[in-house]
Amino acid sequence: MRSLPSHDLSHLWRRMDTVLQRTILRLRGSRVASPERDELTRTLISLPARLGGMGILSFEDCASRAFEASWVVSSTVLKTFIPDIAIPEDKRTQKERCAELFESQQSEMLQGLITFERILVVESASNLGRRWLSVLPTGPTLQMSDHEVSVSLHRRLLTYRKATYCGRCKLNATPPNDFIAHDDHCKSQYGIWTSRHNQIQKLWVKTLQRVEGIKVTKEPQIAGTDRCNDIRIEGGRQIGTAVQDYDLQITAISTKEAVTIAGQQPRNGFTSEKLVERAKDRLQEFLKRRVSDKVNNLPASSVDPVPMLPLLMSSGGFLEEKTECELRKWRRMIGNDAFDFMLRRMAVILVKARADSYQY
Ligand SMILES: [Zn+2]
Repeated sequence: MRSLPSHDLSHLWRRMDTVLQRTILRLRGSRVASPERDELTRTLISLPARLGGMGILSFEDCASRAFEASWVVSSTVLKTFIPDIAIPEDKRTQKERCAELFESQQSEMLQGLITFERILVVESASNLGRRWLSVLPTGPTLQMSDHEVSVSLHRRLLTYRKATYCGRCKLNATPPNDFIAHDDHCKSQYGIWTSRHNQIQKLWVKTLQRVEGIKVTKEPQIAGTDRCNDIRIEGGRQIGTAVQDYDLQITAISTKEAVTIAGQQPRNGFTSEKLVERAKDRLQEFLKRRVSDKVNNLPASSVDPVPMLPLLMSSGGFLEEKTECELRKWRRMIGNDAFDFMLRRMAVILVKARADSYQY
């Protein structure tokens, strides 16, 4: 793409794009009937993962930008040998040219989405939310089944079932908002949520226990009460206190409350960047309320308790601000490789829990 001009080959690039898109849809495993959703699906497949897409960039969109950027570099070098050669005025790199296109595509797409879908895109774009896409099955704990990949693709491509009745909890709700991604918070799935929580708690304990010089306790008792937090770390200089308790909570962003909070800001008139920022702010606001609930619900203790920090994330991997900050401190303690492995495992655990609860 960078070596030859291919303006006259756009029909071939388009054909390659179509083959790739059809392959993704086959992996997803179900169809969307309306043409508007087909266009949305194509955009989501071709957007970079950091913008909430699949990262399968479009040849048709990128080929001309790749060649133009390459020509800027080549003509600058060739100028030494061919003084008459014209150097293009637009000196942007391929990355900059494509970024402009992707942001405008994302902006157009976001304008057409309902509130819940916008926060889903932001969740999918987050570091942990997009991590499963780059997980290689190098060991049993990092493997995902076809069904698990298919369910994750449904979510990422904003394909959800149209049913308004849940056979599991017998809820019969009004579409679309009351029932979008109901599986995320269906009360009958409690066992799956508990298992997901326990797996991540166990993973954290196991990872932190490898750090020399700190003591890690699973489910430490809150002094003077009969309740426990999830993890206690003692002696970790990097976390800033001699002893720190954590309590993990994974929450759905498809609840009525989350969607209501997300919808509190108008969307018209915002640029893509601002729309994304608004959606992030609203998601943070929702998670912060969950953090406050967690702190307010702590049992009264007769003894001075160990400080407790709630660690909160959405079921799709969007981290609450302080949680993200704390995990960065952990990264310094446990090292980049171990931290990266921990994130990949967390991403797979989230994917598996979603697949277990999903109803087509
Ligand atoms: Zn249900």
